[in-house]
Amino acid sequence: MISEAEIANLRRLIERSRRMVFFGGAGVSTESGIPDFRSQDGLYKQKYKYPPETILSHTFFAEHTEEFYEFYRAKMLCLDAMPNAAHYKLAQWEKEGKLSAVITQNIDGLHQKAGSKNVLELHGSVWRNHCVRCGMGYPVQKIVKSKGVPHCPCGGVIKPDVVLYEEPLDQDVLNRSVEEIRRADLMIIGGTSLNVYPAASLVDFFRGDNIAVINRGAPAKDMRGVLFIDGKIGEVLSMI
Ligand code: NAD
Repeated sequence: MISEAEIANLRRLIERSRRMVFFGGAGVSTESGIPDFRSQDGLYKQKYKYPPETILSHTFFAEHTEEFYEFYRAKMLCLDAMPNAAHYKLAQWEKEGKLSAVITQNIDGLHQKAGSKNVLELHGSVWRNHCVRCGMGYPVQKIVKSKGVPHCPCGGVIKPDVVLYEEPLDQDVLNRSVEEIRRADLMIIGGTSLNVYPAASLVDFFRGDNIAVINRGAPAKDMRGVLFIDGKIGEVLSMI
């Protein structure tokens, strides 16, 4: 149960802030019907032939491309999902000049669908794809409409622009994220277990005044001294 006092505290921090940044993860999109990884009904609790961490690795993509795509099309492509109250509130704050950036581990594009402009996608996006041989870009419809392994006319395999396990994060996105976090006076962290590295380590670059965490259950990182609201982020942000 979210208390009035918690909401009042969060509202106060937001009113005082001159530059907010948001850092989020899969929990931001569960209220849009996209399962996260580590919740009770998350993808890691479901049974597959291989653990999802294995399927979503670079090695598995290279060696079992067809099985990768079977899982990817069934579980990772949620193209009809719509933004929820959290996505919309963050977009509104950016428009009002209160929020400088959304830094997300999500790959679903829902922040952009809600109207956010400065979205730093640490793990890429399902909406973009490219040929691993010639680099040609493809929209997601190419993946949806093809069967088995999607190929480019050059013969190369098409790969989603999604950062798989064992793959490095885009250096430019990382640098811009660090810069946004360093310059903010308030960081709101939400819908993330803070279990996935190096993404989770970015929050350590924060030098501002206040951190607020809105999550169902405490994240893996020690967050003592911050305002922690244990609840659904869409519900919480719609009360602000
Ligand atoms: P995670 O699954 O490890 O953690 C999600 C966290 O959000 C959990 O602590 C959970 O309790 C909390 N949560 C769930 N619903 C919530 C809600 N409505 N409000 C507040 N908190 C809620 O996810 P993660 O930390 O983002 O890291 C795992 C990886 O998952 C990321 O790398 C990301 O790329 C990938 N992923 C993305 C999507 C997506 O794009 N929507 C979906 C699944 C996984």
